Amino acid sequence: MTTAIVTTPYHEPHDDPTHVEIAARLKAIHRAIEQSGLLHRLIQLDARLATEEQIQAVHAARMLEQLHWASSEGGMLLNIDTYTTYGSWDAALGAAGASIQAVEAVVQGRVNNAFALVRPPGHHATPNQSMGFCMFNNVAVAARYALDVLGIERVAIVDFDVHHGNGTQDIFYNDNRVLFCSSHGYGATFYPGTGGANEIGKDVGYGFTLNLPLPFNVGDEGMLYLYERLVTPVIRNFCPQLILVSAGYDGHWDDPLGSMNLSVSGYARITEQLIALAHELCQGRIVFVLEGGYNIQALCACVIASLRMLLGNAPGPDPFGSVTANEPDLTILTRRLRQTHPLLQGLIV
Ligand SMILES: [Zn+2]
Repeated sequence: MTTAIVTTPYHEPHDDPTHVEIAARLKAIHRAIEQSGLLHRLIQLDARLATEEQIQAVHAARMLEQLHWASSEGGMLLNIDTYTTYGSWDAALGAAGASIQAVEAVVQGRVNNAFALVRPPGHHATPNQSMGFCMFNNVAVAARYALDVLGIERVAIVDFDVHHGNGTQDIFYNDNRVLFCSSHGYGATFYPGTGGANEIGKDVGYGFTLNLPLPFNVGDEGMLYLYERLVTPVIRNFCPQLILVSAGYDGHWDDPLGSMNLSVSGYARITEQLIALAHELCQGRIVFVLEGGYNIQALCACVIASLRMLLGNAPGPDPFGSVTANEPDLTILTRRLRQTHPLLQGLIV
């Protein structure tokens, strides 16, 4: 297997040491890749800045103007949890550009698969609003590039970040060319509060959104159960030509923001399923785009395990281990989605 990593130097000035989404996250990942011995096996691509036209394929022009102005003023809070600095404009264009490059390299067959190692994350950014640490929606910009420029007709986006990818959902809610599957913590107090099972798309996009709203403390077994029984058959029904993964690792049991009990090994088993699906359905074309993950050591371990699997190897040891807490019962959620979701009933495509 040939696997690319796309890295971006543009993220570094977008930093606030009082925040959890900091430049140290990516620096630690790069160090971990060097120490893992994987670096010589990976093809490294340097990110180009995305163009404003590429960003405007999914975001309103006003949103670009707002971020550009905030950066040129030296930075400010865009909203309560989303900071900017003088470097945020380039950081945001670099993260979106790296995601585009990863997709382009895979679709053009230059590599088998890829991981865009980017920040700021993107999946909360809606068509009109930066939010939740996210400036532009990196995975959505890359998906639109695949559809509009690279000739791809169907993209599946799987989002396993512990938070709902509300921005990605909004961008493709009425689009039947993009299947969006998100597993996430769900409840009145959990960010961003969207992603209910009844949010399944509208107009021509009806049925092309699958949300798995999860109670707290779901662990490896629960997640694998849901990915095997719900996510896998839905993606099979959709038959994508490309799979993108919004790869957030804040579902790890030791993450400070998370609500779940996933382990590094659990994430690796989900990754294994998604890679196998890509081989079955779309010549192995799969691209990971980094989202959350705020316990930096756990984040590094998860990324390294994912890279090993993209290279066709076993994930390696889990330095953190698993938690043994009882998992919540997911049979009611599973039954409800099977009975109500159009793609699980085989009613669409
Ligand atoms: Zn998250």
